Parts: sequence; C-alpha cells; structure tokens
Amino acid sequence: MEEKQVKRRRIVLVPVPAQGHVTPMMQLGKALHLKGFSITVVQTQYNRVSSSKDFSDFHFRTIPGSLTESDFKNLGALPFLLKLNQVCEASFKQCLSQLLHEQGDDDIACVVYDEYMYFSQPAAMEFQLPSAVFSTTSATAFVCRSVLSKVNVESFLIDMKDPETQDKVFPGLDPLRYKDLPTSAFGPLESIIKLYSNAVNIQTASAVIINSASCLESSSLARLQRELQVPVYPIGPLHITASAPSSLLEEDRSCVEWLNKQKARSVIYISLGSLALMQTKEMLEMAWGLSNSNQPFLWVIRPGSVPGSEWTESLPVEFSKLVLERGYIVKWAPQMEVLRHPAVGGFWSHCGWNSTLESIGEGVPMICRPFTGDQRVNARYLESVWRIGVLLEGELDKGTVESSVKRLTVDEEGADMRKRAIDLKEKLEASVRSGGSSSSSLEDFANSLKMKNS
Ligand code: UDP
Repeated sequence: MEEKQVKRRRIVLVPVPAQGHVTPMMQLGKALHLKGFSITVVQTQYNRVSSSKDFSDFHFRTIPGSLTESDFKNLGALPFLLKLNQVCEASFKQCLSQLLHEQGDDDIACVVYDEYMYFSQPAAMEFQLPSAVFSTTSATAFVCRSVLSKVNVESFLIDMKDPETQDKVFPGLDPLRYKDLPTSAFGPLESIIKLYSNAVNIQTASAVIINSASCLESSSLARLQRELQVPVYPIGPLHITASAPSSLLEEDRSCVEWLNKQKARSVIYISLGSLALMQTKEMLEMAWGLSNSNQPFLWVIRPGSVPGSEWTESLPVEFSKLVLERGYIVKWAPQMEVLRHPAVGGFWSHCGWNSTLESIGEGVPMICRPFTGDQRVNARYLESVWRIGVLLEGELDKGTVESSVKRLTVDEEGADMRKRAIDLKEKLEASVRSGGSSSSSLEDFANSLKMKNS
C-alpha cells in the first residue's frame, strides 16, 4: 500500500531585528520544528539571520520595503521600532498572501510574532490565521509594561522626577521600586508608553508565549494568566530546550582557549549585550576596579559601544599591559560557551533577559549593572528575589567595582550566591525536561495549534 506523506503545518515567525529578540525566536522555531511544524521566518531588511546550514530546515522571507541599517542608525532604536510597525503592515500582508498562495490555504497553523512586531496581528486577522504573541522578556517585565500602559503619563512623570519616590516600591509590583520600572528605553517616556500600549494590546492573538519558567516567576505568570484573556504559555528557558546558533556578530572563540588556562571559578566575565552603550568615564572606573581586584577577567567590548571611541582606544596604556597579564578583551564572545566554562566565577552583565537566563542556566552568580528598559527589572529580581546578584546603582567608582568583583569571586557571599544559582539551574533544567512545567507548556501550545486546525 502506498504510504501517504504527511505534510507539516507551517508556523510563521516574525522576530524583532535585534540580537536579544532574534536568538529566542530562532530557538522557539527549533523547538516547534521538533514538534513537527515547518518554520518560515519573516524578517526585515535589517539584521537578517543567515539561512545557513544551522537553519537548513527553515524557510526565510524578507519583508519588502522594511527599514534598513541606515534607518536604525538615523532614527535610534525606539523610533525605529515604532516606524517599522507602520511601514511593515501592508508589506507583511503581501508576504502572507504570497505564502498562502504558494503553499495552500490550510498551510499556516499560526503566526508567532514578537510582541514588538504588532503589525503582524492585523495581517494574520485579515487572512483568518491564528496568531500568538511571543514575549522575549520576563513575565514580570510584561506585567510592568501592562501596568505602565495604563498610567497617566503627566502625573507619572512628576512622580518619577521626585528623588524620594524613586526609592519607593511601586504599588502592586513589590519588590520593584519606581526606579526599577522599564521607563527608559532609548527614548522619551511618551514614546515608550505608546510602544508598550501597542505591544500589550492583544486583540486577536490567541495565546501569549513567554520565554520564562514558573520556577522563576510563578506570581507574575499567575497574574498574567488572570489578566490576559488568552492562555499564557511559559516555555523557557528556550536556550536549554533548543540551541539555535543565530549570532548576528562574529564570535571570537579564542577567548575559550584563554579561559582554558585560568583557575576554576576565578574569572569575571563582562558583557553588556548587543545594544547597551557605556560612557568613557564608567569604562575607566571599571578598568581600574578590575585592575585592583586582582582577579582575571574576560571583557566583551563591542565596537561602537563607547560613544566617541571605535573600540578600546580610551583605555589607558597601563591597563592594556594588565590585559596581557591577567585579562582578555574580545569584540563578541560565544557567551553560552563562556558561561558554561568552569573557569568563570561570575558574570558582570547589563541583565538583558537572555543573558539573565543564560547565566542562571549555568549557575553563575552576577554583578548587575542595568542600563535601560527591562534590564532594571531583571537586575532587581536577581538581587532581591533570586538573591544571586550584586546590584550596582548610581555612579560607578573603581572602589565599588573592586569590592563587587571580590564579593562575587572570592568572598563567602559569592559562594552562597553560587549555591542558590546552582539550585535554580537545576530547577530550570527540570522544567524543560519531559514532564516539566515548561516542556508541558510547549506541548500544550503545539497541541492547541493541531486541534484548532485539524
Ligand atoms: N551575546 C553573545 N556574545 C556576546 C554578548 C552577548 O553571544 O559577546 C548574546 C547573549 O548570549 C544573549 C544575547 O547576545 O543571547 C544578548 O541578549 P540580551 O537579552 O542579554 O541583551 P540585549 O542584547 O537584548 O540587550
């Protein structure tokens, strides 16, 4: 008897063109592919993931007329994102129409879009396709955005300008204080709140997927489930479930050889993610603090991340000598491999959500130096909820840098943080194993698509 070939249903993924969003979206694609779906990634012209051998099973489409690298440079991140949503709506509809035309009307099981690519929602609706929102940040940050989308901007601005209020806990968001809220993200508060309102306004999407786990954020997840009208699926951390090499920059693997020569748990790894900028003054305080700490360090300095410098020119010559003895500087590291390395004793991070999950996933305690947006929320949780981080606030000086590095890599306090981090790592691993909460959630999401469309 001739065997009937089973056609895989397609999931269309729409990532935000930034490293911290692309990575978890590609991991989600891998995880859903393993569940039997075929994957099409619809990208903008800016920051495209290459359809390399790592993604040979995926299909890639580019949204015509979407913004480019020079638009990003000219506009800045926040206006870029707002404009992207305006210009992509019509062309994304065209993309979907073409896909349906080529593959057949029953082909697409769901459009899964990054919460900030909300232009996808009306397009999916036009073709009566199910859609799901994917949040690449923590559930707590999602709750914050939802709360902020409802504030009165004028009176909130007055509160935020009052130094005393800054240190107060924001009502209903304990332990987050006013100053921990994601209110500065590359632009003025009015624009941020506009972006948040659009992102949390889930009108027709039938689910919210979150790259988090209930062992990390049970109360925020429960709150979201109560407040949103659709099922919430915490399926993370995806980097453990499905690795998907999607680095937009070239990784310098020579640092792994350098790590191989260092003592166990002695190295402080420093990376501020793909977007954060650091002032020269802060960079110098960090350099001298690292120097005085006597600990070895691996420092990622992204070209262009220090305004006014191309790369490391603003570091003093004496420090460059020290780097040869006790440090290593790269432009971009294979971060997950670095965090997994036994020589790494601590992670100095801007606390982007991916970096946070990756660090906890390897049981590595952190020095938290958030810059903008949800990084402050994550930093506060690392310090006071999970108690695996040292939070650095206010102006940075070399003395604080030195003592924080020692607290983490030398002192008893750091060893206790590491124990708690390892405990969380084990919980995270259990949650993505078969039968664990995140694994079951992913299964439920996949089944919900199969049921709706069978
Ligand atoms: N990353 C990396 N190499 C580096 C620095 C960062 O591979 O040298 C990766 C890191 O593993 C993470 C992502 O870049 O997956 C950064 O995402 P995150 O959410 O932490 O911060 P963002 O870049 O969005 O601010």
